[in-house]
Amino acid sequence: MESKAFKELLAELDKLTPQQKKEIEEQLHRHDDIQTVIALIEKRMDTGSSCPKCGSSTKIIRWGLSAGLQRYRCGECKATFNALTGTPLARLRHKGKWLSYTQQMADNQSIRKSAHICSVHRNTSFRWRHRFLALSNEQKATSLTGIAEADEAFFLESFKGKKRGMPRAARKRGGKATKRGLSSEQTPVLICRDRTGCTADFVLKKIDKENLSAALKPLIATDAILCSDGEKALAAAARELGIIHRPVNLSAGIRVIGKVYHVQNVNAYGSRLKQWMRQFHGVATRYLENYLGWRRMIERQTEALSPQSILSTALRLNNYQQSMMT
Ligand SMILES: [Zn+2]
Repeated sequence: MESKAFKELLAELDKLTPQQKKEIEEQLHRHDDIQTVIALIEKRMDTGSSCPKCGSSTKIIRWGLSAGLQRYRCGECKATFNALTGTPLARLRHKGKWLSYTQQMADNQSIRKSAHICSVHRNTSFRWRHRFLALSNEQKATSLTGIAEADEAFFLESFKGKKRGMPRAARKRGGKATKRGLSSEQTPVLICRDRTGCTADFVLKKIDKENLSAALKPLIATDAILCSDGEKALAAAARELGIIHRPVNLSAGIRVIGKVYHVQNVNAYGSRLKQWMRQFHGVATRYLENYLGWRRMIERQTEALSPQSILSTALRLNNYQQSMMT
């Protein structure tokens, strides 16, 4: 802009209403955010790019710009792509709002509140949340060694967002189960944690030997020792897998065996998880894994999650299937 026109623009600023000033401020801020977001996205290509369609990396050339991002073309298969192709964030709009949205996630805001603060529709807020969580959902410990602790936690099943097939009358958000303990309204989750802090969790159909064995088999090293609160199905699963099992007997007041065998770490983790989940007022069961992943992401960090780190995490997933979630 020419300096004369710019001076005129500045003179005009005095005439703005407070609301208009606020809108200009937001617009400028959003513009900064877009630059930051685009820099974070383009950084993915710094380590060398390969074609998301055929995997070739020899004939990748720059091919113009699209939606503010560098576009590339593969000389082998002629496919065009950008740094977002294949990530959970591909084709999402409003990049200028992503950082303020991930800030809401860093602040553990609900979908509704985040939508309100970022001025996006609730459905957009919902879609963004689960896209940003797509990688953290996949990132769980694949092997526990040494002393591993296992415990179950139960989450009230939510049918929120399911328009059809509701098996019973809708319950008020975050309501209480009518039946205490394990019932058809509760989704069981197995949480396993070893003494180095490696954590894995599994949404189970049912707490029984079959489901527990399937979850534990690839996870627990054969020379690991599994501690539990003595759940019978877990004992049966450990026996089947040939894992040494040290059950503590909480009801008999025995909390620690041999000074080291206990479930205090996994219990504490479960308590923090349940406490943290409360603020979301009930999560639909099919999205529970994303929240479990989110919690693991929080627990892995020594500092609070930053909006940039949430964004960067989502960008590390490069084989995201659009059909997985909308
Ligand atoms: Zn290709």
